[in-house]
Amino acid sequence: MSAENTCPKCNKELMWDAGSYRCDDCDASYSKVAFCPKCDAELEKLQACGSVSYFCNSCNEMKSKSAVRVEFQIKG
Ligand SMILES: [Zn+2]
Ligand SMILES: [Zn+2]
Repeated sequence: MSAENTCPKCNKELMWDAGSYRCDDCDASYSKVAFCPKCDAELEKLQACGSVSYFCNSCNEMKSKSAVRVEFQIKG
């Protein structure tokens, strides 16, 4: 198993810094975006009682954190 949050460029583990994921080696900040494993739509993040789950607006379904596909998108 790979680490949960890794840099898409250099595969180093990302640091959480001021609301974004940070790779010092690449001097880049990323936001974490989740996609539906079924239809590939971007998922809405729902946070309740400290746990995170996702909702797909096109499937109209809740997705568990472990089922979603996660991508790190570079912040401009
Ligand atoms: Zn990097
Ligand atoms: Zn979907």
